[in-house]
Amino acid sequence: MPLYDYECTRCGHRFEMIMKLDADAPACPCCGTQAAKQRIAAFRTNAWSRFLDGMEKRISPEKFK
Ligand SMILES: [Zn+2]
Repeated sequence: MPLYDYECTRCGHRFEMIMKLDADAPACPCCGTQAAKQRIAAFRTNAWSRFLDGMEKRISPEKFK
């Protein structure tokens, strides 16, 4: 199953969750809002995740301040 990357639209908390393709957006583990949007959908390993974070930092460093 794919590992989805979500970002809460309310508090900005980012989390990953394994979801079915047609599943509803999960509730945020931080504030419970069910308004998290899907950022990336992919099969990811820890190494791949670190690689993507590194790329994202290079592309948009303002996100990591
Ligand atoms: Zn939240």
